[in-house]
Amino acid sequence: MSVRHRSPVLALTLLLPLGGCGGGSSTAPASESSPPPAPITQDNTQPTGPFVRVVGTVQDGGLPHAACTCTSCETARHQPDRRRHIASLALVLPASGKVYLVDATPDIRDQLSALRDVRGPVEGRVDRTPLDGIFLTHAHIGHYLGLAFLGFEAVHTQGLPVWATPRMAEYLSNNGPWSQLVDLNNITLDELTPGAVVELEDGVAVAPIRAPHRDEYADTLAFRIDGPSRSLFYLPDTDSWVAWSQPLPEALAGVDYALLDGTFFSLDELPGRRVESIGHPLISQTLDLMAETVENTGLEVYFTHLNHSNPALDPESAERKEIEGFGVLEEGQEFGL
Ligand SMILES: [Zn+2]
Ligand SMILES: [Zn+2]
Ligand SMILES: [Zn+2]
Repeated sequence: MSVRHRSPVLALTLLLPLGGCGGGSSTAPASESSPPPAPITQDNTQPTGPFVRVVGTVQDGGLPHAACTCTSCETARHQPDRRRHIASLALVLPASGKVYLVDATPDIRDQLSALRDVRGPVEGRVDRTPLDGIFLTHAHIGHYLGLAFLGFEAVHTQGLPVWATPRMAEYLSNNGPWSQLVDLNNITLDELTPGAVVELEDGVAVAPIRAPHRDEYADTLAFRIDGPSRSLFYLPDTDSWVAWSQPLPEALAGVDYALLDGTFFSLDELPGRRVESIGHPLISQTLDLMAETVENTGLEVYFTHLNHSNPALDPESAERKEIEGFGVLEEGQEFGL
């Protein structure tokens, strides 16, 4: 098992806000108008090999959702440990000191802060190279709006590589404000072809895989990230499994960790909707589909991209208990590759 677990020291860091100039006291009582920020947790052990760190686990609208007073959002508003950032991963290569993100979410400011221990901030000023690159899954708001923070008004990166499909690259190049990032060379676009692997260093490669999804502006990818000893499959957004040309257990052959679309737990969250009309697999379906594979192989399956309506967000819920044998992805969780 090479999933990295939180150290006891971490329990303490959970209580502290993310670093920053003039931050408020972590002991200030939570109030409706100014809830303390929820820190993304960090593991304090020193990694040696490549690993993936989870920096976000919920659907595009975040948790709490804007303008939502459902129980889950209200709880998150008042309990910082129940807040979650939008789904994203960091790929960390300690040998070269390089750090890549998978997706650029609207929560990218917190997510970059959560990588300070592996990236090392430049003291006292803006670090214009906070990353070595970004791999984009698709053009829905939770997955690329964070690119805006790389532009002239904010970090103002220079030539930051962004890997995307040709259609996504064309969309970014031809539509403001994204086109300004390209025109000012804040980002450089590298096109990804499904099936063609991007080798980041010896023994570490990222393979884009076409995923069926609502593709209004651009097409959608999953990523398989292979390290020297382990392989991780990341698919935050997809249509239901019947839209895949291959049964899911076959698509995950040879994978050690599968981080899958867990947007909705069941139809209970979608009154009046038929299962065929849902643009995501339900967690309950994935549990059925993968139970035998998980039981008979070393594959570990975790759910991510949870919608604010998903009852499995509550660690005490009956739905969370049904996920036994699988997992709900947690911010700060790490997977050695
Ligand atoms: Zn999404
Ligand atoms: Zn809500
Ligand atoms: Zn999407």
